[in-house]
Amino acid sequence: ATMPPLLSAIANAGRHGVLVKSAVVMEQLGQTQAVALDKTGTLTEGTPRVTDVRPLPGSGLTEDQLLALAASAEHPSEHPLARAVVDAARTRGLRLATAEDFTSAPGIGVTATVDGRAVAVGAPSRLVADAASDEPARACAQALEDEGRTAVVVECDGTPVGVLGIADRLRPDAAATVARLDALTGRTPILVTGDNPRAAARLAAEVGITDVRAGLLPKDKVAVVRELEQAGLRTTVIGDGVNDAPALAAAHAGIAMGRAGSDLALETADAVVVRDELATVPTVIALSRRARKLVV
Ligand code: ADP
Ligand code: MG
Repeated sequence: ATMPPLLSAIANAGRHGVLVKSAVVMEQLGQTQAVALDKTGTLTEGTPRVTDVRPLPGSGLTEDQLLALAASAEHPSEHPLARAVVDAARTRGLRLATAEDFTSAPGIGVTATVDGRAVAVGAPSRLVADAASDEPARACAQALEDEGRTAVVVECDGTPVGVLGIADRLRPDAAATVARLDALTGRTPILVTGDNPRAAARLAAEVGITDVRAGLLPKDKVAVVRELEQAGLRTTVIGDGVNDAPALAAAHAGIAMGRAGSDLALETADAVVVRDELATVPTVIALSRRARKLVV
């Protein structure tokens, strides 16, 4: 027997390295009218590296002590930034302490008790208040962000003690993928990220994205999807993180990046890019459209 067109399209998507979970999803992908893309791990490779380790004056910490403290708290996290911090500590041969009472807040950061001290590592905008005493941390983070880095603040017992600069590379096929999605849908994809506006805008410009929504929490990413859907646009979301899961669920079609993707994102998504090539997303949308022409 000949396979129904949507099933052959699923098989074909599989050959391109994309796991499409059902025939319904295969069909929905072709209906995409707007695309919202996550930044870290989606437009970027998702293997960020620590480029700067800056203890704050008065913290009494050396670079190594700051990095070890942050890495100990980050160790249980599966976030790409957490892995960057742990890898940097390992590379320097630092000993990590066991993290107790670990918590993580998507889009914000982590907290843990390390050697009896309350450590928090996360977004400057969430950890550093407007207080004058936080000015050195704020200034340090901003300087790093102006260079296009993601800055994370390390806090110990409620006081900022240092800032880490982290940089990730764009995927080699990011710009081409954005251009193809633009051509397929007649609309430039939107960048939705929890990262800071400066790093986000810089990266967006490199791939030809003009609509940038930065500093978003998971629920804010959902709000962007709702906004697009209310404008009558069937929206496909592409993401990799725990922080993307609610938006992946809310989208007309949700696609997760498989290699570095979090378990929650892979389970929530309707399709998974297993081979880790972003460029396969527009390919699969085109496959779906061709199959639908055969169906009707
Ligand atoms: P994106 O939406 O670009 O994938 P996330 O929402 O995952 O980014 O993260 C947004 C911001 O939250 C990060 O830029 C960082 O400042 C902070 N953050 C989230 N998780 C962590 C973590 N495990 N360690 C440090 N910072 C974190
Ligand atoms: Mg991400």
